[in-house]
Formats: sequence, structure tokens, C-alpha cells
Amino acid sequence: NVIPDSSGIRGFLELTDIRKDFGTFAALKGVSLEVRQGELICFLGPSGCGKTTLLRIIAGLETQTSGRIVQAGKDISRLPPMKRDYGIVFQSYALFPNLSIAENVAYGLVNRGKPRAEREARVQELLALVGLPDSGPKFPAQLSGGQQQRIAIARALATSPGLLLLDEPLSALDARVRARLRGEIRSLQQRVGITTILVTHDQEEALSMADRIVVMKQGEIEQIGTPTEIYARPASPFVADFVGKTNLLPAQCTVENRVQVGEQRFECHTNGATCKGAVQVFFRPEDVMVRGVTSATPNSAAAVIEKVEYLGSFSRVTFRLNGIEQPLTADLSLNDMAEFTPRPGGTLRVAVPADRLRVFANA
Ligand code: ATP
Repeated sequence: NVIPDSSGIRGFLELTDIRKDFGTFAALKGVSLEVRQGELICFLGPSGCGKTTLLRIIAGLETQTSGRIVQAGKDISRLPPMKRDYGIVFQSYALFPNLSIAENVAYGLVNRGKPRAEREARVQELLALVGLPDSGPKFPAQLSGGQQQRIAIARALATSPGLLLLDEPLSALDARVRARLRGEIRSLQQRVGITTILVTHDQEEALSMADRIVVMKQGEIEQIGTPTEIYARPASPFVADFVGKTNLLPAQCTVENRVQVGEQRFECHTNGATCKGAVQVFFRPEDVMVRGVTSATPNSAAAVIEKVEYLGSFSRVTFRLNGIEQPLTADLSLNDMAEFTPRPGGTLRVAVPADRLRVFANA
């Protein structure tokens, strides 16, 4: 499953048909991908989809059963980790507890026999880069989890590698620190201009940080695209459901661009595909319109409200349409609710614009 790169830019890192079997279990089933120089790529997918295995293969920490890896024009498929050109950061900070912060950051430089003065200058530069210029004499235990991860990144960058590998670097941190570090890591990555691969199962992390997201499912790439492409034009029900909240419903195509969902008929967007027979339609909770919607509004239907969750800047309303078993959700902004307050048991007229109601042909 070679994914074409429409830009025509040759990859800095090229993975060709990477397969990995653990005994009889196929963890990677032929993954091909080009990572461009300087971009931040996220491997995103549910637990067990193979994203960590793929990262470990790129690092040489795991050997692929078959397939080729080329970095900066050089075949590294069979090189041991020490001979590859990358820095890596794991989920748990993995700093050496008995070394000072400066010694931790200098670790790779010492290994490469860099003179002391050069090492010290580089360490200072890196500590400043990650925003902890005075932390050199401290020890890991004196830093917070978020600070330790910043040091781990400084250490990974010390030898100026061509590639930065981040394996769920934020998942051990609490939500607020995680949100702040996302922005910090992204801005640091852009300043340094280093090609970076980030493994995550957190869709918000992927959407907010990546140049491109690689969505994986059961050892295969399901879709590659920019965050906007992945969110607005998911290639499959799996991607629609995994990235962002979605309403996904079985439907029947009647004529071109028209679907029957339960007792309702809607106009939809088929994205150029032929709408025929059984399909699935999907729309995002924020695509549901309520303000000014009447029976004359195209693609509208009467809804019964089941649940209302107040979430600050918006409310998530669970509702049902006539003849449709499945509960659906709408995210209503304060503006949407200017003229009414949704309450459980109440009724409401909802509409989804045709260009927001999209069709997936059933697999
Ligand atoms: P998670 O987010 O849970 O780490 P992941 O997408 O990173 O998930 P991997 O760790 O890459 O998934 O694992 C992919 C599959 O391969 C899983 O089903 C896992 O159980 C299996 N697997 C991974 N390493 C081994 C191993 N050393 N031996 C046997 N099976 C393995």
C-alpha cells in the first residue's frame, strides 16, 4: 500500500513496505511512507495498531521482518541503533538519576569524545533552548515531570541528529502540563528545523502539533494527511470516529446525492463517489445547526433531546431523530442557544448542511 506523495518532494526518511511479525502475529503489514525534511509527523492510532513498533524499527531497536528504510539517502535498514542518526525521547523520562542535568544533556557528547569546553557551551545552549538555562547543576529528582521531559529532549538533540523520535513523550504528564508542552515542543522543533516523528494515541496532540498525521489501524496506514485533511475529510469511518467526535449512521442511497436515514431523507456530499445502496453517513457534532431552523430548512428534521452536558463554551446535546435508534450528538455554541435553552425531553429542529453530511461507501 504505497501512499503517493502528491507534492513530489523526495522523503528525508523513506519507509518501503515495512513488515513485522511477532511469531504468527503480523504487527505491521507493509507500511510505506515518506517523511519530508523538517516536518513533524505523528503516528496516531489506538493501542496495538503498531505505531510504537514502527518507531522502534526506525530507531533500530526492533528489526523489521522485511522492508527498507532509507534516511538522508542512505540505506539504514540493517544498521544497529548506535550507527543511526537520531535522538529519542521515551514516555518515562529516563534521565540518569545520579547525573546532574548538565551531565545528562552532555551524555551523548561525552560518548563522542567532544572536548569539555565545547560540551559545556553546547549544554548551555540546549538548556536555554528548552527554557531551563539554570538547571544544569540540579538533579532529575529536583525537576517536575514536564521539566524532565524538556531535559530529555535537550539530551536527544545534543549531538545534532538528523531525526528526532518521540515515543508518547507527554502521556505520563498531567493534562495542563501536557497542553503547555505540546506548544513548546512544536515551537522548539520548528526553531531547530529537525525532522520529527511523534507517536501518540492522543488525537488532540496529533491535531495540534503535526504537519501531517499518519493514522494507523491494525498494522496498516489508514490515512496520511494534514490535520485539516484528516479531520475534515477522513478517508474511512475508522478515521472519522478516531479523530474527533462524530455521528456515524447506516443509510441507504436513493438517488445521487440523496440518502435515506431511518424515516428521513437528506441531501449529502458524496465526494465524487457514486452513492449506491447501503452506505454510512457521518457528520460532526459541530455541523448540526439549530438557530433559525424551520421545517422549510433543507436537510432538517425534528429531534427529541435526551441529554444536555454543559461544557463551558458549548453544550453537548444528545438527541434522537424519528425512526433512528442511535443517539446523535450536537455541539451547540452559546450563539446557537441564544434563543432557547435545550432541556432533556424537549424537542428541537436540527439541520445538517448537505456539504457537511458525508458518505462512506460500505466496505
Ligand atoms: P500502544 O499505544 O499500546 O503502545 P502501539 O500502537 O504502539 O500500541 P505496538 O506496541 O507497536 O502498538 O504493538 C503492536 C502489536 O504488536 C500489539 O498487538 C502488540 O501486542 C504486539 N507486540 C509488540 N511487541 C511485541 C513483542 N515483542 N512480542 C510479541 N508481540 C508484540
